[in-house]
Amino acid sequence: MGLYEKLKRASFSLNDKTNLLQNGYIISEMPLWTKLHQRHGYPAMGLSRGQFLEILYEALPHSQETVRTGCRVVDLQITANGVTAVLQDGRTEEASIVIGSDGVWSKTKEALQQLNTELDTEMFSTRINFQGLYGKAPAMSGVKPGTFYETRSNGIATQVVGSEGTMLFSLIQTVDTSTPVPRKYTLEDREAMASRFAEVQVAPGVRFKDVWRIAERETATMVNQEEGYAANWHHGRLVIVGDAAHKMTSISGLGLNTGLHSAAVLVNQLHDIHRLNKDPPAFLIEDAFATYYNIRQSETYSAFRLGQSLTRNVTWSSWADWIWDRFIMPWLNQDYIICDRISPLVSRGQLLSYVPFQELKGVVPWQSQSKERY
Ligand SMILES: Cc1cc2nc3c(=O)[nH]c(=O)nc-3n(C[C@H](O)[C@H](O)[C@H](O)COP(=O)(O)OP(=O)(O)OC[C@H]3O[C@@H](n4cnc5c(N)ncnc54)[C@H](O)[C@@H]3O)c2cc1C
Repeated sequence: MGLYEKLKRASFSLNDKTNLLQNGYIISEMPLWTKLHQRHGYPAMGLSRGQFLEILYEALPHSQETVRTGCRVVDLQITANGVTAVLQDGRTEEASIVIGSDGVWSKTKEALQQLNTELDTEMFSTRINFQGLYGKAPAMSGVKPGTFYETRSNGIATQVVGSEGTMLFSLIQTVDTSTPVPRKYTLEDREAMASRFAEVQVAPGVRFKDVWRIAERETATMVNQEEGYAANWHHGRLVIVGDAAHKMTSISGLGLNTGLHSAAVLVNQLHDIHRLNKDPPAFLIEDAFATYYNIRQSETYSAFRLGQSLTRNVTWSSWADWIWDRFIMPWLNQDYIICDRISPLVSRGQLLSYVPFQELKGVVPWQSQSKERY
């Protein structure tokens, strides 16, 4: 797609991971991303979702005509040869297929559930066991650029990463919500959550209250950190991808990554059938969607389960989580964590099969083969 260099320029580098307790005591330190860079040939790139979307948007041909913002799909109606999307303002859009990358409260997922009432619609119905607060602040001494700090504790955890001029923070706390519904938080909710974390040392010697004091308050956001895994990803001309299919908290850092790899598999399938037939019949579309699901189900389910356990480990949700996080993880060999647990996930990365590119190589071979690589 030709965006690698641009993304690299816009991003900050990630090198090390430091795990600590609320009082600043360091439990473990490892050169996680430096080693992954050596193993796979690509650096880890830290950037905000907004920056990432902007770069994609700018690179999209005719983006102003093809992307319409500020309109909500309120209904999806299946027609003989396509789908009609009904927008909130009453307008309609005709399409041959709908790819719902519309997040955890996906309208497309809802439509799939209605079409497939006999199927057990969600393997793990969406639950809200965690809330988050994330934002940006100017860089501070004590937060080393390129180091990712993660504090663990009873019911709360923090993640902070610094770059040359800026620092990103993310807080997470366990909550007990019986009704999982989308919710917008008020400024008071946000302040209350921030004050609960005030004394936590998000990096050695750096308390959250000091970060919050200089944080960009207008962009700091409090959100639900839902978890859910849809069993039914497609039906007829509808398909879902990303958080609509598998929603995990931000702790594992796998939500977007997993969704992107799924999106690559999905468009590879669509590209293949479109090459054969410019107006593919319904059965070919359904086959493509089924292949996409079959390729991605196991990997995404593992990522989802990993996300569930990592979130519970760092928030010490049970005695077992506490023992694992506090005593077993720091004792485990770092090479085992990087080489045996994280690296295989990276090496199974998906490629856009029809986009030629010059591949970078580390010491670990890539498992996917591009058809037109040069
Ligand atoms: C604090 C935080 C840190 C994170 N860090 C990482 C990380 O380091 N690595 C990582 O891989 N992931 C991370 N994630 C997760 C990542 O942000 C999500 O997995 C990713 O944004 C999901 O993308 P998506 O497009 O599937 O859904 P979303 O980002 O939720 O986008 C859905 C879009 O659909 C639109 N939409 C929804 N309903 C409708 C409708 N009816 N009509 C029209 N439009 C609609 C929404 O407005 C939105 O624009 C993090 C998340 C958080 C909260």
